[in-house]
Amino acid sequence: MNNIHSVLDVLQLPSPIQKVDFSEWIPYGVEIFFKRDDLIHPMISGNKWRKSYGHLLRFSQGNYSGILTFGGAYSNHLLAVAAIIKEMQIPAIGIVRGEIDIHNPAIQFSQNCGMHLIPLDRKNYKNKDISSLKQIYSNIDFLNYYVIPEGGGGKEGMIGCKSIIDEIPFEFDFIVSACGTGTTLAGLVNELPDRVHSLGISVLKGEDTLISYIQSLTSKKNFRVIQGFHFGGYARFTSELIMFAKQFMSETNIPLDYVYTAKMTFAFDQLLKQNYFPKGSKVVLLHTGGLFNAAIR
Ligand SMILES: *Cc1c(COP(=O)(O)O)cnc(C)c1O
Repeated sequence: MNNIHSVLDVLQLPSPIQKVDFSEWIPYGVEIFFKRDDLIHPMISGNKWRKSYGHLLRFSQGNYSGILTFGGAYSNHLLAVAAIIKEMQIPAIGIVRGEIDIHNPAIQFSQNCGMHLIPLDRKNYKNKDISSLKQIYSNIDFLNYYVIPEGGGGKEGMIGCKSIIDEIPFEFDFIVSACGTGTTLAGLVNELPDRVHSLGISVLKGEDTLISYIQSLTSKKNFRVIQGFHFGGYARFTSELIMFAKQFMSETNIPLDYVYTAKMTFAFDQLLKQNYFPKGSKVVLLHTGGLFNAAIR
């Protein structure tokens, strides 16, 4: 019971780091690496492992019946937590936004892991108000579950991000990550020495709370959030993005997902071509995963 080691046993850690030679990037004289957190586990992908870790520590220190968390039907977080609780053999409740479509492979996978999925209408979901569920599911003692917030955020979510940096065996000048809530970026910024710049590529349209959220998690200042690479909004994409990801994949063998990592890599490509990165600098791009739900093939 409550054994984090049973999860660690199935993960590839440290995740690999590789130098990327994409032909279009060569003229800029920048050394570019991909930190392959997508290879940690097919379902517990990328930053969802890093963000779950601190929560799992808290869970195992307490006396909880299980884990309760939230997600949309295609949430990488829900998927990761489902795979985690299967390895730990602990009960879990997944509160799903809107309806539950049993034909959705992510939903099927989570249920097969033993996660108890409960739909919550969008209005109550927005406020994470599960009080309406307490009457319907009176057999469940919701209060006794350890709650991981949507996406695995918060201070606990930052704890595991430290290992991303510890695992990189050389010094570098920039780290780039896709940003949803910004928890991962905050975790990186918080651990990095001040001379390293952290760049977050927002995948959301007009998300002006992102920076203040990151500032609420860390007092460090050496980060920047880049907007304008959302391609229409969360989980939206254009043929330009897909073509870019396919060309990138064909040259580098690194698959990208259209919700996060393709947008991050595309934004990096544009910044590089605008000479954002000084010649001779070293840049680490963080592959945060997401391939089960949204791989571009
Ligand atoms: C959840 C997720 C992110 C966003 O992480 P935040 O910590 O919320 O910013 C980025 N990439 C992938 C693949 C994700 O699943």
